[in-house]
Amino acid sequence: MVASGMYPGALRQTDRLRLRIVLHGAVQGVGFRPFVYRLASELGLAGTVSNSSAGLAIEVEGPPGQLELFRARLQAERPPAALVLTQEENWLAAAGYRRFRILPSDTAAGKTAAILPDLATCSECLAELANPCDRRYGYPFTNCTRCGPRYSIILDIPYDRPRTTMRNFTMCEDCQREYTDPSDRRFHAQPNACPRCGPRLSAPVTEAARELAAGRIVALKGIGGFQLLVDARNQAAVLRLRRLKHRQEKPFALMMPSLEMVRRFCEVSEAEAELLCSPAAPIVLLRPTGLAGIAPAVAASSPYLGVMLPYSPLHHLLMREFPYPIVATSGNMSEEPIAIDNEEARHRLAGVADFFLMHDRPIARPCDDSVTRVVRGRPSLLRRARGYAPLPVEIDRELPPVLAVGGHLKNTVAIAIGRQVILSQHVGDLDTLEARRAFERVVADLCRLYAFDPRLAVCDLHPDYASTQWARASGLPVYAVQHHQAHVAACAAENGVHEPYLGVAWDGAGYGSDKAVWGGEFFLVEGGRFHRVAHLRPFRLPGGDAAVREGWRCAAALRYDTFGGSAVEDPILRRMLERGVNTPWTTSVGRLFDAVAAMLGVARENRFEGQAAMLLERTIGDIKTEEAYPLTAGDWRPLVVALEHDLRRGVAAAEMAARFHNALAAWIVEVAKQAGVRDVCLS
Ligand SMILES: [Zn+2]
Ligand SMILES: [Zn+2]
Ligand SMILES: [Zn+2]
Repeated sequence: MVASGMYPGALRQTDRLRLRIVLHGAVQGVGFRPFVYRLASELGLAGTVSNSSAGLAIEVEGPPGQLELFRARLQAERPPAALVLTQEENWLAAAGYRRFRILPSDTAAGKTAAILPDLATCSECLAELANPCDRRYGYPFTNCTRCGPRYSIILDIPYDRPRTTMRNFTMCEDCQREYTDPSDRRFHAQPNACPRCGPRLSAPVTEAARELAAGRIVALKGIGGFQLLVDARNQAAVLRLRRLKHRQEKPFALMMPSLEMVRRFCEVSEAEAELLCSPAAPIVLLRPTGLAGIAPAVAASSPYLGVMLPYSPLHHLLMREFPYPIVATSGNMSEEPIAIDNEEARHRLAGVADFFLMHDRPIARPCDDSVTRVVRGRPSLLRRARGYAPLPVEIDRELPPVLAVGGHLKNTVAIAIGRQVILSQHVGDLDTLEARRAFERVVADLCRLYAFDPRLAVCDLHPDYASTQWARASGLPVYAVQHHQAHVAACAAENGVHEPYLGVAWDGAGYGSDKAVWGGEFFLVEGGRFHRVAHLRPFRLPGGDAAVREGWRCAAALRYDTFGGSAVEDPILRRMLERGVNTPWTTSVGRLFDAVAAMLGVARENRFEGQAAMLLERTIGDIKTEEAYPLTAGDWRPLVVALEHDLRRGVAAAEMAARFHNALAAWIVEVAKQAGVRDVCLS
């Protein structure tokens, strides 16, 4: 907080003063102005409040005691969805305000106001939705300043109705009255609407519920794009969705009507419940306690079940008609971008969906459901999209106007404005032409929305990433960062960790500074430099990319290096390793997981990224053991020897999987002790 100007305590209570406060952060579209209006009126203060591109500006005038009270209550009672990053305060001489007014938005200032993410339906709107006497009873597009779509409807800032996809809906008299009444919950709620004047559905919700009950696939136009829904209890229906969507085994997330139902299937801690019910309403990965009634095809290989609660009025209405767990997956073919436009969806999802539940409120940009997991009581984001994007990460120093274009898999784009890093929604893998186009749209959209003029593009060191190639062709000066150093630096920035610290980056694959495939790296970060202080003992990937899919190849490479050629049965593979043909080196912990999963007979291959590692973790089950295989200095040879020994003795796979995980944990502790630093960033 920055404060300056006169000291109010030096004045008599009868004197009038003016307090100017500017709030930066996500403060628009959350009911902040009506809140300030009510607070100022209640305290008998005059002045103004206005939205500008730079943030929310407040001027209040009155006796110093009342101003102090205003200041305290502004802090304590602010709208729950608001995110205040910084607050500037100035005590000034009175300007002679007579009353309190809300000023129209000013569009001149620099565009740094944070844009709010989409917010899950609030309790008041839910109550109205269920109240037969309310004029919005059963209306699927109800919202207020505390909830509703934001990022998915914003076309430009500052956030006002003409700059959203609601601009073509003219409010009726009743809605207009709410919109202009500072004491109303819908005062300046930009997407404000009702059945008379707002968006409409293409078909009744009851019909969609009937389709689900009949085992058919419903394409629903949600908040950030289309979703494909199917009855999660119906094995045949889930399998059919997998077949049509070309999604073999990757787990599906479920939507369940209530927290009570989630508790029936999964272990839900307090932190997890809070996250499920938060305004972001993400998918939360939970530990299942018993999945009786859920089709096995939903999430066969994962130790977790991804679950979310309904987050829009439309979802709530549907789940009221169909109160059972449903598969809710993004409306696309496997790994393609999510569909957002009605015509586009009809075209692209024609071969998958049996029924379309659409509406006429356009979606400004695609935004998938976010995926989170609670680790040690704290939420950690695995896929940052709806409900979080584009909230900034505040860092401790000013950055030049940098555009970071991200990696090739699970791509995300970021721009730096001053001390804020604004992250795009999850873009996805850049394998297809469609995905690369989506990536380009996200870059253009982010720059346009924030009137951002990048001076430098930062990309991955890997020369073949689509994002790297885009950066090289952009005409901007380019700075390439090693993949795992980027992982570690991002982790440190997000958590406010300062140098010196130890960064641990364990990953599937990233291009190393020595051109090898890295993925089991330790960096001591000091004085702005990354020292690679430890890494996994390198091994070979027989067959290159084939070894990334097929863990048994990695297992063969480990055996070859540990026991010699006679330990490898497959003659082709043995020859490959002997001659070193098509066998790139790697230090990837991800591949070590694959190899161990193959050795234990848990998984011979990956049908989707990370599958073998998931299965290996799932194998542990409830086993608790302190025992660990030796992995001193990242040398896996003693580990392979011990593992083979246990295999011959017939030790349970669960026990061996646990010892392997413990070995990795012990290695981190070992390196951390050697590095002698207090902070460790795990990425
Ligand atoms: Zn609401
Ligand atoms: Zn209306
Ligand atoms: Zn990575």
